[in-house]
Amino acid sequence: MNVYKNIAAAGILVFLLSCQHPTDQQKSSSGDTNTGAGSRSPLREKVMTAEEQRALTPDQVILDLKEGNRRFVNNDLTRRDHSAMVRNAAKGQYPVAVILSCLDSRVPVEDIFDKGIGDIFVARVAGNFVNEDILGSMEFGCKVSGAKLILVVGHENCGAIKAAIDNVKMGNITAMLTKIKPAVERSRDFKGDQSSKNDAFVDEVCRNNVLNTIEAIKSGSPILKEMAEKGEIKIVGAVYSLKTGAVTFL
Ligand SMILES: [Zn+2]
Repeated sequence: MNVYKNIAAAGILVFLLSCQHPTDQQKSSSGDTNTGAGSRSPLREKVMTAEEQRALTPDQVILDLKEGNRRFVNNDLTRRDHSAMVRNAAKGQYPVAVILSCLDSRVPVEDIFDKGIGDIFVARVAGNFVNEDILGSMEFGCKVSGAKLILVVGHENCGAIKAAIDNVKMGNITAMLTKIKPAVERSRDFKGDQSSKNDAFVDEVCRNNVLNTIEAIKSGSPILKEMAEKGEIKIVGAVYSLKTGAVTFL
């Protein structure tokens, strides 16, 4: 009889869990209480406050971005009242992260993390490398404006990475690619075809380019390096899949 009781209890538990909306399980740390496109809850109007930003740790921001990406992959983005958010954000901004992405039109940065007005700083350049201007922007984002995370996002099938592998020469692109080529050199131990036609090699160079960028941030910015050493911020990397929309943290 006990066996039947246990089976019945397990069935009730499964039923209760299946009734729970997946995004209700954890309230987002950036104040996203809206439960997505299928929900009848009101549109999100609120924006990040100074208090909310201050209370976050870098690890909480990483978790928040991972949850946002899960909603993006599940086609369950937070519904927002953009007009209200524009008005509410006009007085100040308290973003949680600085995200450096490639220029690629298939990587809509706010969307892939389910973020909106006032939530994140975004810097973009083909090949997601840093220069003096982007480092200065990151210092502004973290040291002046209080962001807790720097995230460098590379992506699958990146044209800039392929052009660096192919040693393309054209106008200002030539100089731009010199910033990415160290990642090609870092990938020379790759076993197999080291051409842009080999997706696995392109992926390897993409990952190494993200790692190079993280190192360049630390070596090029004593301010950010010190903040990272004190635990005030984290500097991490990720790769975005064009096929699935999923972000994999390195
Ligand atoms: Zn790209």
